[in-house]
Amino acid sequence: MTYRDFDTYLKKYPTPDGRFGPYGGAYLPDELIPAFKEITDAYETICHSAQFINELRRIRREFQGRPTPVYHCERLSNRLGKCQIYLKREDLNHTGAHKLNHCMGEGLLAKYMGKKKLIAETGAGQHGVAIATAAAYFGMECDVYMGEVDIAKQAPNVTRMKMLGARVIPVTHGLKTLKEAVDAAFDAYMKEYKDAIYCIGSAVGPHPFPMMVRDFQSILGIEAREQFKEMTGLMPDVITACVGGGSNSIGFFTPFLADPVDIVGIEPLGRGPAVGDHAASMAYGSKGVLHGFESILLQDENGEPSPVYSIASGLDYPSVGPEHAFLRDLGRVKYETISDEEAMEAFFLLCRCEGIIPAVESSHAVAYAIRYARTHNTGSILACLSGRGDKDIDFVTESYGYGEKFNLD
Ligand SMILES: *Cc1c(COP(=O)(O)O)cnc(C)c1O
Repeated sequence: MTYRDFDTYLKKYPTPDGRFGPYGGAYLPDELIPAFKEITDAYETICHSAQFINELRRIRREFQGRPTPVYHCERLSNRLGKCQIYLKREDLNHTGAHKLNHCMGEGLLAKYMGKKKLIAETGAGQHGVAIATAAAYFGMECDVYMGEVDIAKQAPNVTRMKMLGARVIPVTHGLKTLKEAVDAAFDAYMKEYKDAIYCIGSAVGPHPFPMMVRDFQSILGIEAREQFKEMTGLMPDVITACVGGGSNSIGFFTPFLADPVDIVGIEPLGRGPAVGDHAASMAYGSKGVLHGFESILLQDENGEPSPVYSIASGLDYPSVGPEHAFLRDLGRVKYETISDEEAMEAFFLLCRCEGIIPAVESSHAVAYAIRYARTHNTGSILACLSGRGDKDIDFVTESYGYGEKFNLD
């Protein structure tokens, strides 16, 4: 399918049962079916009301500081050739990343539904901080489930969540990381769904979450498309974003689907293609079910999720949002990989050429823009800078110093 076929795409997908072609759906224990039905029904009525839309607009403007700008990287572009690189600056969104866009939407929905508590899981703690921020804003309780291993690794984010009034609940079974935290959050939600709502961290999980997170994150692409047109009078030739679970990317891509624009999602190649060294689900995965939805999954021969790794902890998830798998099959979005080394070169180049310290996750999208500019000496590429890198500076300097091994001068 080409872009011309996408005029009616949003009306058709997901289907009422949450399917994007063969992907998506809701694989739930019986006890949770009514809870997810309640969220789906509420989303379909409340979120399309003028009152909800107006309140969310006001929150985005006054609390989050939206719209975030599109920025032309002139020095970086000139250094590489004639292709022009632009960034959508989600690092300037409140809390320093895009995740707050869907958390504020989910928090507002919870308020309209009369819920008193937000329940979430977190890995690196970025989603936990965003959901704790939303809970504080709406005056709700907040329980964040987090693996004990991650709690030890991510002390600053644990402090932030507690400062914002959230309870951080250690998960002590299994590997004590993200997968177990998701299981624990589901268990808690099963017991508390009358008073609480579950807020997943990306465009993944059972229906309606992939759709809901996409819709709330679409503000990224809606703003960027208008801003880019106003700045240049044109459409970008290519747009790109990093893909962990796929929330910043699906929100960025959706408003461009029916435009003559190439769309490229970037997965983390980590240290290389061996099992356990990367988290490039689309490049090396196959169809499977994880965390209540069907998609492309890195798995062993028994269907157990494979170990994953990336220098960017926000990208190391063994699957990907179901809509990404569908858009790839339709041929509308291409997926490429970027290694740790390429991402880190981009990290330092952006610091030095533009005065922007990017999140290591977002550096994967910047790295693709750099690769594209080096190989296409014309046109333009617009990358989503999903977040700022303050959270990463200690780790980066420990492992890479100030980027001495890269040619930055
Ligand atoms: C969490 C995170 C990501 C990855 O999540 P997606 O759902 O794939 O967008 C990317 N960038 C930043 C800054 C993050 O915090």
